[in-house]
Amino acid sequence: MVEISFNGWLIDSDNEANRRFDRAAAGFGVQSCDCIYCRNFFAIKEEVYSDEVLEFIEKLCVRRPFEVEVVEYGRLNGGILYHAWIPFFGAIKSRPEPTDEIILFEGFNLNVPKMKGKQVIQLTWPLVLPWVLDGCEYPT
Ligand SMILES: [Zn+2]
Repeated sequence: MVEISFNGWLIDSDNEANRRFDRAAAGFGVQSCDCIYCRNFFAIKEEVYSDEVLEFIEKLCVRRPFEVEVVEYGRLNGGILYHAWIPFFGAIKSRPEPTDEIILFEGFNLNVPKMKGKQVIQLTWPLVLPWVLDGCEYPT
């Protein structure tokens, strides 16, 4: 376990398990979803995450975020509101006062190959993203 602090959170990360999972994670999760919301999300993926989030994910020994779920909630502030859920192996040691920004959850039993029955933390936060899908309007 590696102790990592992030945005007021203190976690124990199982970096060895995260490294193994990162190598095995291709081909499942929402990357394989064909709905227009997921396709739009992955069309802009490179610009989705802040440097702060990418640095945190790197500390977990994960090369690229693995989204177990992406949820679209409609228009907001000229963009589209999404939540992405990014699980990794570890445990929360202490949490900051609740905010509506970056949130970590634990106690999930994810039905994801190689994550089933393991202790995972999920990272999520609101993302307001552009609609970039070529030849496909945002549904109104
Ligand atoms: Zn989808």
